[in-house]
Amino acid sequence: MTTAILDFDPAATVLPQGHFIAGVYHRPGEAMIHVRRPSDGRVIGQVPDASPETVDFAVETALHAWRSSGWSRRAPRERAQVLLRWAQLIDAHRVELAQLEALNSTRPVSEAYASDVPLTAEVIRFFAEFADKAGGDVAATRQNSLGFVAAEPYGVIGAITPWNFPLSMCSWKCGPALAAGNAVVLKPSEMTPFSTMRLAELAIEAGLPAGLFNIVNGGGASAGAALTRHPDISKISFTGSTTTGASIMRDAAQYGTKPVTLELGGKSPQLVFSHVADVDETARCVARGFIANGGQACVAGTRLIVHKQLAERLIAGVLQHLEGIEPGPTWLASTRYAPIISAPQAQRIQAIVDRSVDQGAHVLCGGGLFDGTGEGYFYRPTLLTNVTSSTAAVREELFGPVLTVQTFEDEEEGIALAGHPTYGLAAGIHTSDIGQAMRAMRGIAAGTIWINRYARSGDMIIPTGGFKQSGIGKDLGRQAFESSQRYKSVLIDF
Ligand code: NAD
Repeated sequence: MTTAILDFDPAATVLPQGHFIAGVYHRPGEAMIHVRRPSDGRVIGQVPDASPETVDFAVETALHAWRSSGWSRRAPRERAQVLLRWAQLIDAHRVELAQLEALNSTRPVSEAYASDVPLTAEVIRFFAEFADKAGGDVAATRQNSLGFVAAEPYGVIGAITPWNFPLSMCSWKCGPALAAGNAVVLKPSEMTPFSTMRLAELAIEAGLPAGLFNIVNGGGASAGAALTRHPDISKISFTGSTTTGASIMRDAAQYGTKPVTLELGGKSPQLVFSHVADVDETARCVARGFIANGGQACVAGTRLIVHKQLAERLIAGVLQHLEGIEPGPTWLASTRYAPIISAPQAQRIQAIVDRSVDQGAHVLCGGGLFDGTGEGYFYRPTLLTNVTSSTAAVREELFGPVLTVQTFEDEEEGIALAGHPTYGLAAGIHTSDIGQAMRAMRGIAAGTIWINRYARSGDMIIPTGGFKQSGIGKDLGRQAFESSQRYKSVLIDF
């Protein structure tokens, strides 16, 4: 793909408007929320803040469509074919979707094109293929009796997504839910709604019955809470912060004892032992692990825990990999480094860095915004040394490109430092000693462990999801499909 094709004029992009319900846009005259582009902070459009009546309309439309279309009773292969067509359409609109994602979110257009859009299509394809391959259990009970476990969809699943990686997050929620025979009402982040809306249009174009996938827009406390609380939402699948996850869990308990999948925050370690096969490659991994998407990834590896013997060499390697990083608007194909999503988010990063410095941290590099980027917020890759486990930047998820560095002298100490008191989303382990890697893997309470790498594999069969306050349940993998169904036990005497 040439630069000329991916570069775009952000002012010329046409944005969808309203709530997408039953395959058409509704604009019921509600209060509007400004949506900005993070590269320069300008307002690019607006979305309505859904009232409880609009949420009710979306959910009832979904329930009606789910019942009347017979989506859940269709041969699973037929459902798969609709979803496969959807994936094809996503691929066919690769440039358009990449540009929409780049306009509204923090994703540089070349990255959205190379990775976000094709992976979104792949996730839909993966779950489409699951539709007719998941079986059930038949149990031997006693003579003249048979028991089996029948899986069935919930009905209407409520999905709520964050502002980072909006396209991918939508596919992680809708892929398994729709493949398993449910309808979905999704509320995207009010900061990044537009690419998700276009994805929903393409689903209907692919042949998904109108009403099976609806988008309501709006704020979290308003539209998000109304969706969670709606009596006809049978399950909630949420990705976002730990604080919001707790609030959703309270609502789910209070308004119907609903099951929840919660993908929440993290503060993931990259644990580097004294012997690694390739120090430079490890340094590259560590650098990529904390600066990808400007550090705005739930699994960002923002705590480096390195053996004393290797610390100096490794840190020098990491600094080398940070050289030459330049900010640029997400709509230029040459841009590689992501802006921070919003002014409040940039201020939050700075506040945690400042608090850490007050607590004794040394700023080895970075420590503030890049100069001269106008109203955009590009945070310099930052390394903080002289920190302890109680330093703010070590304890709190700050969702920015900030790496704290701690050292250790023996294996046990390293593994202990890698653990976090509240989060347990992911961890990286770097060592050339397989026994050491396995001991560390067992010793760290995290939902995903990467050994001698740092990042997702792109294999959808590997699920993702955290321990402790990083969440409940899994996205991706067989587990995400299975948790989009409920299980009915059937016993027959004959
Ligand atoms: P957020 O919790 O502020 O918002 C997420 C979504 O929840 C938004 O759509 C928001 O409008 C909605 N919301 C807010 N309050 C709500 C309420 N009371 N009821 C219902 N919905 C509500 O999170 P964010 O700032 O958009 O995203 C960043 C967070 O997401 C980080 O903590 C990050 O770690 C996490 N995240 C986790 C994963 C994962 O897989 N574990 C993936 C991506 C992001």
